[in-house]
Amino acid sequence: MRIASWSWGGRLHAGTISRDGREATPLAVTDASRGVLEIIQRLARGEGLPPEAGVRMPVQALRLAAPLPRPARNLFCIGRNYREHAAELATTVFRETLPEQDAWPIVFTKFPETVVGPHDTVRLPHPSVSTQIDYESELAVVIGRGGRDIQRSRAMDHVFGYTVVNDVSARDVQVRHQQWVLGKSFDTFCPMGPWIVTADELDARGTRVRGWVTPKGGVAELRQDGRTADMIFDIPTLVETCSRGITLVPGDIIATGTPSGVGMGFKPPKWLGPGDVFRVEIDGIGAIENRFDYA
Ligand code: MG
Repeated sequence: MRIASWSWGGRLHAGTISRDGREATPLAVTDASRGVLEIIQRLARGEGLPPEAGVRMPVQALRLAAPLPRPARNLFCIGRNYREHAAELATTVFRETLPEQDAWPIVFTKFPETVVGPHDTVRLPHPSVSTQIDYESELAVVIGRGGRDIQRSRAMDHVFGYTVVNDVSARDVQVRHQQWVLGKSFDTFCPMGPWIVTADELDARGTRVRGWVTPKGGVAELRQDGRTADMIFDIPTLVETCSRGITLVPGDIIATGTPSGVGMGFKPPKWLGPGDVFRVEIDGIGAIENRFDYA
């Protein structure tokens, strides 16, 4: 099942998307400003979908929003979690600070206010704030049933589904402060969508994650092409790690890291600029495509 949030008629709606991706069915939720959160909460409690609420619409006629447009708290994010990307980072400024051994995942967060829709514009900061804007194509895990100290062996019972994010990063700011949160949390720096695919419909252990840059006035260039099988820490391990001493709740999001091919890995680096478009596509889910520009 695919669940999504969209704007139509001047307000947000939440509901399901048909298997072919063409038709949206609105469902009765009390607070659509939270996107599909209520639907996740209901299903996590073992209740069914809310009743239908209104006419079905062609997806083409809607503007898809992020399925969770304002998460209840920061997003959990995993750093350096693909082997090829780890090798790439070893050639960058991060070689000084990253651990040499993979004992534990690197975990940081992004503010809820970073989230924007799958086709929204990402706002470039003023050049005095950052000149090193980079992309990270990522599979994001959406938590269903909550819990604390979740064992790896039971972790998948807590995974509601998956969506696509771009973990947009201001590299100069990211490396400046030891902690990554500032350089990862600029407003609009987490495009998300186009919907959530429930975990029963996607085996996320071996799916393909790709990212393309279309430079302003240019043609699309494939920059990232990885498979989740290259993850250093798999999804059950990430759920176990993020729930150690911390209660996960329905709608929590874990961005699982990015494959190789980020802009900072090139010599010289290739940063995003005004008018550039970045597309992230994950097999079995879909694609998000966002233009980068000054406000
Ligand atoms: Mg990332």
